[in-house]
Amino acid sequence: MRNNTLIYTCCAPCALPILDYFKNNGNISDISLFFFNSNILSEEEYDKRLENVWKVAEIYMVDLLEEEYNHLDWLRFLNGKLKDLETYKENGLRCQFCFEYRLEKSIKFAKDNGFDSFCSTLQTNLYKDTEFIIKKTKELCKKYGLEFVDIPLDKKEAYQKGVLLCKEFDIYRQKFCGCEFSFKNK
Ligand code: SF4
Repeated sequence: MRNNTLIYTCCAPCALPILDYFKNNGNISDISLFFFNSNILSEEEYDKRLENVWKVAEIYMVDLLEEEYNHLDWLRFLNGKLKDLETYKENGLRCQFCFEYRLEKSIKFAKDNGFDSFCSTLQTNLYKDTEFIIKKTKELCKKYGLEFVDIPLDKKEAYQKGVLLCKEFDIYRQKFCGCEFSFKNK
């Protein structure tokens, strides 16, 4: 039985300030990253983001686990919940279901693989509805019997730290959230 924390990881720029925080304040040896991002519009973009998360994992010497990319499954899930996906603004209902899809599968993965606590890079994202994300994550952690890990970073400071660390380590910073709907609005 592993006794550690799985961090759902949307991308390298968001992972950097969190890994930096755990390195300075927590126990980074207890951390594994989990890359599960079927929301990304194409395999090319997916591979680019994953490659940069691998870079970050190597720099901080943490494990990186990944789940298969399946954009159709993500679309099917969202289409089962909402009509006209392209009409929603970022952080609206479409994004809420997208967060739920990624978080629930990740928390289930954590449970099935013996992790005992969970958090996500989404929790400190400057551009996301972190209030909703934290509430949903707590709810899902409770459902699957995992401990929720709070990340006490200021969103603005985390963003700025991420920008600096990306420059330092030459990490790709994408210009849109991930799906085809966010790509159109970039
Ligand atoms: S904009 Fe981002 S969070 Fe919203 S649905 Fe698209 S990928 Fe998901």
